[in-house]
Amino acid sequence: MKFIVCLKQVPDTMDVKVDPVTKRIVREGVPSILNPYDYYALEECLRLKERYGGSTVAISMGPPQAEAVLKEAISLGIDEAYLLSDMAFAGSDTLATSYTLAQAIRKIGDFSIILCGREAMDGSTGQVGPELAEHLEIPVITYVSKIINVNENQIECVRLLEDHYETLKSPIPVVITVIKEINEPRLPSLKGMLRAKKTQIPVWTKQDIGGNDLQYGQDGSPTKVVEIWRPEIKKEGKIVKGEPEELAEAIYQELKKLGVA
Ligand SMILES: Cc1cc2nc3c(=O)[nH]c(=O)nc-3n(C[C@H](O)[C@H](O)[C@H](O)COP(=O)(O)OP(=O)(O)OC[C@H]3O[C@@H](n4cnc5c(N)ncnc54)[C@H](O)[C@@H]3O)c2cc1C
Repeated sequence: MKFIVCLKQVPDTMDVKVDPVTKRIVREGVPSILNPYDYYALEECLRLKERYGGSTVAISMGPPQAEAVLKEAISLGIDEAYLLSDMAFAGSDTLATSYTLAQAIRKIGDFSIILCGREAMDGSTGQVGPELAEHLEIPVITYVSKIINVNENQIECVRLLEDHYETLKSPIPVVITVIKEINEPRLPSLKGMLRAKKTQIPVWTKQDIGGNDLQYGQDGSPTKVVEIWRPEIKKEGKIVKGEPEELAEAIYQELKKLGVA
C-alpha cells in the first residue's frame, strides 16, 4: 500500500502581512514552518506504514523554500518527497491548489490513503482535502480521530462530529483529514536528520504533472479576494495590581464607571 501525506508550509507568525494590491499573504522574509495540523497527518502516515507495510510519500505545493517541510518529513522517516513549485501555481486558491496536488498524486500513482491536516493555520478553509478527493473521484473522510483498521479494500475509522463521534468504513483509495487527537507526533532521530540533509527533493513543475493549463494558478482560481483587513482593537485592557480586597474595590469602581454596578 502507498500512503501519501500533503504538507503545507505556513508563515510562523501571528502578525501576518497582506499585500494591499494583490490581497495575498506576504511570504517573503517571513519565517515559515510546517502547518501544525500536518504533523499529525505525517505521523499517521508513518504509523500506517509501520502497521501495514508499503511506502510513504510526502508532497507540498509552494515556493522553493517549502522544500524545508519535505526535508523535515524525510527526517521523520518518510520514504520519498516531491515539491510542486512553478510560477504557474502562484495565486492558487483552494480549488487550484487541490487540482495541482491531485495531478501530482496521479503521477505518483497506485495510492491507497491520502492524508491531510484538518486545516491550514493561515488559510484555514479546510477545503483542500475534500476538493482533492473530488478531483481524484474518490471518497473523503474529514476530522478523523482514530484509524481502527485498514485492509486492501477498505478503511475503518472514527471521525469527530459537532457533539459526537462516528465510526465508519469507506472503500480505498480514500482521502482523510486528521485532527490532533489522532496521535502524538514523534521527533526526528539523528539518523533521520542526516538522511534528510543528504536527500535531494525533486521539484515538479506544471509540465511534469500535466493536466489542463486553465486549472492552475490564478486562471484556475474562481475565488476573488475583494477586501482583506485586520480587525481594529478599539479598547486596550487595563491591568490592576494589588491585594485581593484592593482588586475587588478597583474592579467595582471600574464597573461603576461603566454603569454596570
Ligand atoms: C485568491 C487567492 C490567491 C491565493 N494566492 C496564493 C499564492 O499565490 N500563494 C500561496 O501560497 N497561497 C495563496 N493563496 C492561499 C492558498 O490558496 C491557500 O492557502 C491554499 O489553497 C490552501 O488553502 P487553506 O490554507 O485554506 O488550506 P486548508 O484547506 O485549510 O488545508 C487543509 C490541508 O490541506 C493540505 N494542504 C493545503 N495546502 C497545501 C499545499 N499548498 N501543499 C500541500 N498540502 C496542502 C494540508 O494537509 C492542510 O493541512 C491564495 C488564496 C486565494 C483565495
